[in-house]
Amino acid sequence: MSKLYIVPTPIGNLEDITLRAIRILQETDLIFAEDTRVTKKLLNHLDISKPAHPFHAHNEHKSLSSAVDKIKANTSTVLVSDAGTPGISDPGFLLIRACIAQNIEIECLPGPAALIPAIVSSGFPCDRFVFEGFLPHKKGRQTRLLAIAEEKRTTVLYESPHRLVKCLGQIMEFMGEDKQVCVAREITKMYEEYKRGTAKEIKAYYEAHPPKGEIVIVIQGKEGK
Ligand code: SAM
Repeated sequence: MSKLYIVPTPIGNLEDITLRAIRILQETDLIFAEDTRVTKKLLNHLDISKPAHPFHAHNEHKSLSSAVDKIKANTSTVLVSDAGTPGISDPGFLLIRACIAQNIEIECLPGPAALIPAIVSSGFPCDRFVFEGFLPHKKGRQTRLLAIAEEKRTTVLYESPHRLVKCLGQIMEFMGEDKQVCVAREITKMYEEYKRGTAKEIKAYYEAHPPKGEIVIVIQGKEGK
């Protein structure tokens, strides 16, 4: 019986790996990684001397059937991405779906994902929320922004630092300059920062302090819910 484990890895602080994730990485027959160099650093840190095999985003479709064959040939395979939970704005979904279609057992360990600390620390309701991941850069971006403007639940976005100010400008344009937002930057890392306020205030802050690092934007729902 073959099994695919989805193993979340730290999003910054290397202490954020579970005991079970370490044990499964130690015991597994095969490790598939988004970037083997990134995973090798984590494995070295954990004193696990085992090779990681590439499973890239850009060849996820192409490498699917050979990956499924390898999973079937082993008892236990692990899928990791560079950081956080595979499948969450990272490769994984297609492989997981293909394994389910082949009756391969899937087990996803709970663990780091940037959206969770961001939404919980935002101070906005987190009993119900919408995760939008990365908005499309061009085509379809406006449609998504219009939908978020009407959304009553809290919305979570992933964004790159060089597009943050532009994105906050679009939030002002589509949702009003007083829309409440929270920008979570470098979560679990040395320069972790949370900025809360209106889209206008936070945009002005980041215009004056160009951001570096990794960013999550949390947007309060319509009607302040
Ligand atoms: N799989 C990851 C997860 O579970 O969150 C997401 C991977 S996605 C390629 C990378 C994006 O996640 C970053 O651009 C940023 O938006 C967000 N992210 C990842 N780590 C973060 C961190 N430490 N602080 C803030 N945002 C982070």
